[in-house]
Amino acid sequence: MARHRSLSGHHPSPALLEALARSSRHGRAAHRLPQLPLREGHKSAVAGALAGAFFLAGGPLVAGSGVALGDSGVDTDGRLPALEVLPIHRQVDQQEEAAKLQKNEELQAKLAAAEQAAQEAVERRAAEQAAAEQAAAEQAAAEQAAVEQAAAEQAAAEQAAAEQAAAEQAAAEQAAAEQAAAEQAAAEQAAAEQAAAEQAAAEQAAAEQAAANVQFVKPAEGRFTSGFGARWGTTHYGVDIANSIGTPIYSTTSGTVISSGPASGFGLWVRVQHDDGTITVYGHIDQSLVSVGQRVGVGEQIATMGNRGQSTGPHLHFEVHVNGQKIDPQPWLAERGISL
Ligand SMILES: [Zn+2]
Repeated sequence: MARHRSLSGHHPSPALLEALARSSRHGRAAHRLPQLPLREGHKSAVAGALAGAFFLAGGPLVAGSGVALGDSGVDTDGRLPALEVLPIHRQVDQQEEAAKLQKNEELQAKLAAAEQAAQEAVERRAAEQAAAEQAAAEQAAAEQAAVEQAAAEQAAAEQAAAEQAAAEQAAAEQAAAEQAAAEQAAAEQAAAEQAAAEQAAAEQAAAEQAAANVQFVKPAEGRFTSGFGARWGTTHYGVDIANSIGTPIYSTTSGTVISSGPASGFGLWVRVQHDDGTITVYGHIDQSLVSVGQRVGVGEQIATMGNRGQSTGPHLHFEVHVNGQKIDPQPWLAERGISL
């Protein structure tokens, strides 16, 4: 600023000119200001003001009038041409000279103040420009951050979708494997049950076949105590098998019950007529388990061993009648594989 305060060789700074131009241009583009395309009227006003100021100071004359200055090449570089002080050849008293110097000083102060204001305006504009650039940079950074955030979220969403798909695929495969295992287990279970059923059927068939082959059984387990024939001055028409009371008594072969109940000398008895007409007799029984007319199979329990009637101890009296004849049961049983 000090250079603008010299008394000679004034060169108004670009800042001053800019400020002057701005004051009359109201909102033109700021970046064009350094070229100072001043309008004619204003340029004349500026030059005139400057020249007039020098005239008022009573000092050196200013080259050119306001009009001439306005028509000079002020637009070429943005500077006003230097004001040249011309010598004068007349006497002035010291008081008048002091007044001129005083006015000159005041003019210099006004110029300095104007330049100061202009400089401040330029600096303010630079600050505003910097602030605008800063805001733009922050905006760009924010937009970039938003783009990156969106990209990250997109990637995360795709990742989540991929993981979801993988999980569903794994679940489906797991379910398929379990389904296959369940079907395999069910098939094996069914096969095992089928085999067991076939085994049971085979065993049942074998048992039935074996039962079918058994035509005769021993009428009771026990001790053979007396045979068929003469005994004690009379005839014994059967065989005796002794055991404890309650011992099971079986039908020796299949047939139909024709007697069940009390009988003279036998106490209680059961008689079974077989399919060939043969009759078997079971005497001295304790209890009968069948009824007259009942069909019984071979080996089926029909009574329990007792001691009823003319008996000297718990035993079964067993007779066989063939064609109305009481025969010896022992050989008849023996012919049928039964030994007493
Ligand atoms: Zn007897």
